[in-house]
Amino acid sequence: MFELPKLPYDRDALEPHISKQTLDFHYGQHHATYIKNLNNLIAGSPLEDMSMVDIIKKSSGGIYNNAAQSWNHEFYWNCMSPKAKKMPEGQLMHSIIRDFGNFNDFKDIFIKQASSLFGSGWTWLVSDKKLRLSIIQTHNADNPLTLDNLTPLLTCDVWEHAYYLDKQNLRTAYVNEFWNVINWDFVEKNYDNHQ
Ligand code: MN
Repeated sequence: MFELPKLPYDRDALEPHISKQTLDFHYGQHHATYIKNLNNLIAGSPLEDMSMVDIIKKSSGGIYNNAAQSWNHEFYWNCMSPKAKKMPEGQLMHSIIRDFGNFNDFKDIFIKQASSLFGSGWTWLVSDKKLRLSIIQTHNADNPLTLDNLTPLLTCDVWEHAYYLDKQNLRTAYVNEFWNVINWDFVEKNYDNHQ
């Protein structure tokens, strides 16, 4: 049985950028429901003893959707912090400048990608095996774990449930708020661990 992972901060900690009401629903209802559905779907099957990542790689349909959404949300919560620094440092910053020109261009491209994804999905900063960075979009529950050679470093949830309570239909306004709370320490760690 999988358990809903603990949120790494209080539900009001990301205010004013992301409200407690949004986290009450997004974490307390949506994420919790993915975990509950996953547990119900794998009960009594050989998948019951697998890790979440193995389930994502080996399943399809409802099991895949709920496992991937469970993993994506835990990763997304960790991508945010109430004590966010303004920009990354070290090797990650070096590679952002190498692959995107400068930090502001990188920010613009990320926000544009997240804003323009049609329908529900996720925007990711990923690294390939040669440590080159790129920004990709995935639809619905999909994530880079099933794509060859790509390691997720950062994600932004662009499902409407991530922002509708705070920003209604204004997704770009939400992505700009998200940018203010990115946990660059976590993103740096993902990149450093990948090297
Ligand atoms: Mn979500």
